[in-house]
Amino acid sequence: MKNLAPETVAAQAGGVIDEETGAIVRPLHMATTFIRDPDNQYRKGYSYGRPDNATVRQVEAVLTQLEGGAASLVLASGMTAATTAFLALERPAHVVAPNVMYWGLRKWLQEDAPSLGIEATLVDAGDPAAIRAGVLPGKTKLVWIETPANPLWTVTDIAEAAGIAHRAGALLAVDSTVATPVLTQPIVLGADVVMHSGTKYLNGHSDVVAGALVFARRDAYLERATRLRGMLGGILGPFEAALLLRGMRTLHVRVRHQCASATRLAKHFARHPRVEAVLYPGLASHPGHAAAARQMQGGFGGMLSVRVKGGEPAAVATAANVKIWKRATSLGGVESLLEHRASVEGPGSPCPPDLLRLSVGLESPDDLIGDLEQAMATV
Ligand code: PLP
Repeated sequence: MKNLAPETVAAQAGGVIDEETGAIVRPLHMATTFIRDPDNQYRKGYSYGRPDNATVRQVEAVLTQLEGGAASLVLASGMTAATTAFLALERPAHVVAPNVMYWGLRKWLQEDAPSLGIEATLVDAGDPAAIRAGVLPGKTKLVWIETPANPLWTVTDIAEAAGIAHRAGALLAVDSTVATPVLTQPIVLGADVVMHSGTKYLNGHSDVVAGALVFARRDAYLERATRLRGMLGGILGPFEAALLLRGMRTLHVRVRHQCASATRLAKHFARHPRVEAVLYPGLASHPGHAAAARQMQGGFGGMLSVRVKGGEPAAVATAANVKIWKRATSLGGVESLLEHRASVEGPGSPCPPDLLRLSVGLESPDDLIGDLEQAMATV
């Protein structure tokens, strides 16, 4: 499907009809092995389930179109996808990454990656000058950014970061999990690879763990990542791939609704007597608002954080008292989740102790506002 609006591509999962039956939902391909031609060739393009799978390929085709990329790899989790992006670099590799980012990946970069020949310099990725100061021309292989980034929703100007990375001879990778292809297409802005935790908005129903990499070009970097997936077996299972594809059919309506609700909540709590500050890229008060307005089309995302007056005890007590919001980690699902993030990230986290991270779902925003207000009132 060429030149169609992204929501058309997503709603029809690429528009592919099953040739055998005419089914508008393609069958789930469970086979782990495939018949060889009499002369030992695999002319249909499939040989074994670890390197490749037809249901996974269907997800990849849709995602490649949504991101405006050249090829995608769907993997077993967001962390599998992210670590594959680093492990596919020629090593030794110096990389630059944000100090405010998904904490699991920051932990891997700090604690595991050095023994694998990957040295990370962590910078304030909301400040292009800090990224520029962090790259070592000729030595840095990859600049990694996450925008908006967990849990302060720091915004990095993707086009600017791409220029900095490319001038230093490095690639730019963007964790676009929170922005989703509905709001931002990093490849169009100059990124070389886009990563998603498919566990979040792409699937959207809190019932699949998945990840993806979308590549700007079919080149040696893609080949090395593909080889890693095939060798290490990081491919997503076919059943999860089918669920992920079903989730992606409604991506656009979900994300647009979540953006609208998150904006309402952000504006409401920004002037609430029990709230110290609201962090949301859609608010003019957010330091990343101007960059977000340049590169996010149609909304500022469904994630925001609220800093509760009274510090950590008040934030923890508020979380304890919610009834509709679910006290749980993760984000991007149809149900709204709330989390005291500093407790999750532990010592050394840049997350303020009074911060609650909110993932806005599809419930009535009035119910969500009412529930959070009653939880704050009991503190
Ligand atoms: N990137 C972001 C922004 C995330 O929020 C997460 C998960 O919380 C990940 C990456 C890792 O994804 P997964 O949990 O699917 O491995």
